[in-house]
Amino acid sequence: KTFAEIDLGDCLKQNIRRCNYIKPTPIQRHAISIAVAGRDLMACAQTGSGKTAAFCFPIICGVLKHPLTVARRGGGGSGLACPFALILAPTRELSCQIYEEAKKFAYMTGVQIAVAYGGTPIYQQLRRLEKGVDILVATPGRLVDMVERAKVSLGMIKYLALDEADRMLDMGFEPQIRKIVEQMDMPPPGTRQTMLFSATFPDEIQRLASDFLSDYVFLAV
Ligand code: AMP
Repeated sequence: KTFAEIDLGDCLKQNIRRCNYIKPTPIQRHAISIAVAGRDLMACAQTGSGKTAAFCFPIICGVLKHPLTVARRGGGGSGLACPFALILAPTRELSCQIYEEAKKFAYMTGVQIAVAYGGTPIYQQLRRLEKGVDILVATPGRLVDMVERAKVSLGMIKYLALDEADRMLDMGFEPQIRKIVEQMDMPPPGTRQTMLFSATFPDEIQRLASDFLSDYVFLAV
């Protein structure tokens, strides 16, 4: 299967070509179709496997398909950003890397993407969020801070991706991650689509999967 054969929409496909992605990697070949079909997913993915595109493509695709695009972002001076999709990553480096890739994939689509990570003043990131955001890439600690300051609402999250989930747990982020997901579990339930990516599958990750995912597909390539 090529990218052209997956139902991703013309705009995204054009950007995929622009990025010189011709053939999907094994993880992409399976994960993208499953996620675009609306299923939750737990995937075994190492760095370099192409996992970033594997969760970014379905998310961008979903944002583009959704009819509420303009109203929901939370721009317009409310000061409360209401992203539609959230990508959690363990470090500043990884979140920035995902952000840069996602921007290329979403080029000219109108999809708004922002990044939030710790270890740097929060105000600049908050100013960006005030303009409204569809997809937020964040590290768990900084996101909890923003939620507690009532600058970000997670009540509209339809897509959640957890990247390098094992590393996030190793770094002690489990309480923050649970707090974040609790914020998303507002009524109506069952509307969130979750993708969990991890290089390893210890008990803690499987517990996370059974707590956060529903009726999920397990993918090991
Ligand atoms: P990742 O595992 O997401 O960090 O991706 C590793 C590298 O492979 C990145 O530089 C991507 O831009 C590149 N890449 C991912 N998928 C593809 C693809 N289907 N074709 C060509 N390059 C890709």
